Amino acid sequence: MTTHRIEIETRPPFQSLFRVYVTTFVLLVVSNNVNAQRLVGDGFVTASGQYVTITADFGTKDSLSDLAASFDAATGQWQAFWQLPAGSLDSFHVTAYIMRDKDAFRAARYLQPQLPDFPFGYAVGNTVWVVEQPGEYYTRHLLLHEGVHALSYEIFGGVGPSWFAEGTAELLSVHTGTGPKTQVNRVPLNRDTVPYWGRFKKMAERRDENKIPTLSTVLDFPADLNADVEAYSWSWAAAMLLSEYPQTADTLRAAAWQGNQIEEDFRHDLMRELKPIWPILAARWRLLCNTIDYGFDWQRERVPLSMKDPQWNGQPLNVRVAADQGWQSIGVRLPPGATVRLEPTGQCELAQQPKPWISQPPGVTIRYYRGRPLGQLLATLVPNVPEQGKTMEPFEVIAVEEPTTIVIKRHCWLMLRINDDVGELADNTGGYDVVVRRGG
Ligand SMILES: [Zn+2]
Repeated sequence: MTTHRIEIETRPPFQSLFRVYVTTFVLLVVSNNVNAQRLVGDGFVTASGQYVTITADFGTKDSLSDLAASFDAATGQWQAFWQLPAGSLDSFHVTAYIMRDKDAFRAARYLQPQLPDFPFGYAVGNTVWVVEQPGEYYTRHLLLHEGVHALSYEIFGGVGPSWFAEGTAELLSVHTGTGPKTQVNRVPLNRDTVPYWGRFKKMAERRDENKIPTLSTVLDFPADLNADVEAYSWSWAAAMLLSEYPQTADTLRAAAWQGNQIEEDFRHDLMRELKPIWPILAARWRLLCNTIDYGFDWQRERVPLSMKDPQWNGQPLNVRVAADQGWQSIGVRLPPGATVRLEPTGQCELAQQPKPWISQPPGVTIRYYRGRPLGQLLATLVPNVPEQGKTMEPFEVIAVEEPTTIVIKRHCWLMLRINDDVGELADNTGGYDVVVRRGG
């Protein structure tokens, strides 16, 4: 059975302002007694690439060719991401409309009257429509996002449940560069490179409110995400969580081929694969959602956890915490009732410019990140029995500035990291040594 998904994209707050602008523009045109249909025919600009033909009512042939080049570059990367055999996309070609004035497209019969009045983007098979956004980045992002859906229809016969459809579309549309230099599946380095994208802002708000959904909640998102930018954000995070580890990346890719199944079957098959490692996924989800921000670097943030991690036998452990890595496990699982004493020593260098900042476990108070001194040694306990609620329990971080005793209340992993902006780990060197002993 082929699923037919109607795609209505999210609506950030600037949309209503933009509408006012568009309305004003149209009224001015009419009041100047210019034919309101003037955009039909000659008013459109068209450019083609290998995988897309774009028609827009603004811009130039060059600007649309640049968008087509982005689309072509992305398509090659989508093919690689999904590990599609050579030749799979030989006949893949998308017809894309990028619209400043929807009425012009309706008049030209490019936009069918039976389609709903979507605010952002819309995909049916290999035809996609995108509403022009104030930022060039976000318009291009939406074009690529809809293109991912079009490819899923073409290759997989469907797009899967809402979190999967939107999560993979976001994963493969968030990008750096333009034209042939477009690189998809890149966590944005800073806000300035992705104007109006806004995903991290929404995630940070929920983090502050302790309302981050559990992974189960995301995988159970309703079929209609109601143009909710937050739901898209968590869906993207879930797609990243699976795609960034080899074992689950295979599972994610295999799931795409079930894109035309009914949702219950899709979920059943996916959960059969994920269930044996669910505690690890839930733990990584907890760390990911509480950590991710601009510059988040997967090369440094993959969390090595294993279902075979032994339970701690109480013997002292010597753990090295590297300053250029994210959350690091002490390598054992801790049982309830254990009392753990952490004794940190050593120093690291945070940043090299303008001069090396040397830090010890208490951190350096000349700069703060998320309210804590840079270089402060942080600990958190991550349950290895997954949470049951709709949203996750608060993320508690313990400062380990000096020998610190932690009482363990439930089965968990103990994670450590050295506090720094997640986008600035690359220039850190050194780390701390932590002796883990039985406390009390
Ligand atoms: Zn979508």
